[in-house]
Amino acid sequence: MALFSKKDKYIRINPNRSYRELPQQKPEVPDELFSKCPGCKHTIYQKDLGSDRVCPNCGYTFRITALERLALTVDEDTFEELFTGIETKDPLNFPNYKDKLAQMREKTGLDEAVLTGTASIKGHKTALGIMDSNFIMASMGSVVGEKITRLFEYATELRLPVVLFTASGGARMQEGIISLMQMAKISAAVQRHSKAGLFYLTILTDPTTGGVTASFAMEGDIILAEPQSLVGFAGRRVIESTVRENLPDGFQKAEFLLEHGFVDAIVKRAKLRDKIAKLLEFHGGQQ
Ligand SMILES: [Zn+2]
Repeated sequence: MALFSKKDKYIRINPNRSYRELPQQKPEVPDELFSKCPGCKHTIYQKDLGSDRVCPNCGYTFRITALERLALTVDEDTFEELFTGIETKDPLNFPNYKDKLAQMREKTGLDEAVLTGTASIKGHKTALGIMDSNFIMASMGSVVGEKITRLFEYATELRLPVVLFTASGGARMQEGIISLMQMAKISAAVQRHSKAGLFYLTILTDPTTGGVTASFAMEGDIILAEPQSLVGFAGRRVIESTVRENLPDGFQKAEFLLEHGFVDAIVKRAKLRDKIAKLLEFHGGQQ
């Protein structure tokens, strides 16, 4: 446990850093921009994707930002952000890492790859974490680990459930072994929350891989996934070249995981808010 008490060696708290105010309304969809749908290859106008960003032609579920997810999920004006101002000490002095973090903060409006706080979902108060793959592929470094750990500790103290939207490309290579330590640190906090008899819901979104899958993404009491999400530990090519076998089609898709018992249900984005609210109602979310 002494390992975990040394966290001040690799993070620091900056009380002076100011953040962009988080938008509470659904983001405006820009007109006249279009995307090619990776599902059906049709060209789709952005406005036809709507705020939930699902292809009207084939149902392909586009990746969304943490702020878009927030707007789709929580009751208006109920989100209170927690655990901001935590910064990495860049333990390896990794070239350009601090510049990259500054650029990512500017681009995403987030302070790190996970947004944490409390909110109500259809009247049920919950601790909430949303990972954002636009922020260095939502890789897990010391700050992501610390924010999620604190979210669980806070929820345990206040007897709140935790709802966590996962997304990740894996460990934050710029922080080396400290990234991997986060898996154990978060898992210990998840266990304390669980032992207190509290509910933890994970929603796996595209892509959830690496150390996040190997720890808290798969530790939920109930695990939901969005359709066609990539969920795995190592990438397909890495596994195929290691075991020298071809893997089946659809390997590492949410549907494959459902079939093999790793996921409880796949829920379309349009139904997700209702499903989360219902689960919070069943499992002790406070009104
Ligand atoms: Zn499509």
